[in-house]
Amino acid sequence: MSPASAGDEQLKQAAARALQLPLADITALQIVRRSLDVRHKNPQLQLKLKVYTEGTPLQDLTAPSKYRNVEGKPPVVIVGAGPAGLFAALKLLEKGLRPLILDRGKPVEERKYDIARLSRERVVDVNSNWCFGEGGAGTYSDGKLYTRSNKRGNISEVLQQFVHHGAHPDILIDAHPHIGTDKLPRILARIRETITGCGGAYYFNTCVNDFIVKNQTVLGVEDMQGKRYEGIAVILATGHSARDVYELFYRRRWALEAKPFALGVRAEHPQALINEIQYGARHGQSNEMALPPAAYSLTAQVGTRGVFSFCMCPGGIMVPAVTASGETVVNGMSNSRRSSPYANAGIVAQVDPAELSDYQEHGVLAGLRFQQDLERNVQAQGMSLTAPAQRLVDFMAGKTSATLPETSYIPGVAPAPLHELLPAVVGRSLQAAFAQFGKKMPGYLSKEAVLVAVESRTSSPVRIVRDPHTLQHVQLARLYPCGEGAGYAGGITSSAIDGIRCAEKIALLS
Ligand SMILES: Cc1cc2nc3c(=O)[nH]c(=O)nc-3n(C[C@H](O)[C@H](O)[C@H](O)COP(=O)(O)OP(=O)(O)OC[C@H]3O[C@@H](n4cnc5c(N)ncnc54)[C@H](O)[C@@H]3O)c2cc1C
Repeated sequence: MSPASAGDEQLKQAAARALQLPLADITALQIVRRSLDVRHKNPQLQLKLKVYTEGTPLQDLTAPSKYRNVEGKPPVVIVGAGPAGLFAALKLLEKGLRPLILDRGKPVEERKYDIARLSRERVVDVNSNWCFGEGGAGTYSDGKLYTRSNKRGNISEVLQQFVHHGAHPDILIDAHPHIGTDKLPRILARIRETITGCGGAYYFNTCVNDFIVKNQTVLGVEDMQGKRYEGIAVILATGHSARDVYELFYRRRWALEAKPFALGVRAEHPQALINEIQYGARHGQSNEMALPPAAYSLTAQVGTRGVFSFCMCPGGIMVPAVTASGETVVNGMSNSRRSSPYANAGIVAQVDPAELSDYQEHGVLAGLRFQQDLERNVQAQGMSLTAPAQRLVDFMAGKTSATLPETSYIPGVAPAPLHELLPAVVGRSLQAAFAQFGKKMPGYLSKEAVLVAVESRTSSPVRIVRDPHTLQHVQLARLYPCGEGAGYAGGITSSAIDGIRCAEKIALLS
């Protein structure tokens, strides 16, 4: 069935045929899953339907959670207002515990000005940027909500919470739900209204730099000004860019472990080219259905190393995801309509910390130092925030590009030999992977495609070790390392799920 013909009446007819029922017996239909299959010559919309034959009313899929008034209830300190911290807070409201949310950044309404200054004036605020501030790295992101971690909790609970706070209900049925960066700030403000309305509290511009520990039990935290915040537990959800938090654990000899991570480049193509590759030449003809900007997902095995596309943003733009001056880090985002003429995706290679022989003196922080050096070294090639770039075909041929196509990256790009700037193991793996991608998606290795470095913040190179059952830190009781920064999640949805899990464990304490 094509999307153009997916009207209610036609759906009923199709359902009646499939179930061999008289059409009149069908009283209601509900779409429970919607996906686009682009493997065939003509893209197909696939729908999973719930068919009602006895006038059964449609379920309200967006039923709000049962938040309780938590004024005067035992406080739980949450460090980090990203998806992990905020979804932990919402779960604590249900459990009758009072979240105190501390974030080094600003509320979304103020944060957007720092982000604009970062892109346009190249001024980096170390506490308010694409990674830090209300909503965490998830706010000015693409807002893609799909996750590979199907087993790690209740994805639909996260989606329902988003809808309850203003996201479009389509995310409940789409196989690849997406919110868009233009919609996320309002949703985060509504989540804040829910939390404060029930008696929870936010403390912005509050950078935590120590823990209050007694007898190996965490009683609270201390901020940069020495102000203390205490609670029955502390959820540490500071994201993978809070390098100062890892340094603190390292200095105190609290358990951390190195973990594999991934880094590489962001590849940008004209969206029209990706549409043509994915949908075929018929795309755009008047009698065809209106298709969304096409996405792709690619993987390659190069020897023992996995290379894969990551955070693909159809109709998106590339952004500087730095958290300090002197760094170059790129990422991607899009608005809800995915209306930019560009398609970008991180193309990253897995790196095992054991491979980093030059960094072993840094112990468990080897991967972090390697990431940091790379972000600084590629910066050294250009002006502040100007990202080094190379046409994909030149990267494959090992030569610096004489010219670059227009890109969506606002601070600007400059030609650079990425094949030399990237660590050899990563650069060679990417070249081999791109050759495979060109076969899987003929046309992908286009002269119009450009690579921009460095896509280094895809995952945390460090894990803050916690007990798999209690979710508490293995040495520090009542401390719950949580989300992407702790190394237990990757992406908005899985971080939110991890936040919910930590809150549920804390509820068992009281
Ligand atoms: C540009 C961009 C686009 C992205 N697009 C997507 C996407 O489409 N889909 C997807 O699933 N994922 C996307 N991601 C990744 C996603 O945003 C993260 O995986 C997710 O936000 C991690 O959630 P978290 O809560 O664990 O940490 P974070 O979101 O990183 O939040 C951590 C919070 O902790 C705060 N903090 C840090 N240190 C301290 C401290 N010492 N004291 C107080 N507060 C502190 C920070 O200010 C921040 O608000 C994107 C990321 C970026 C940067």
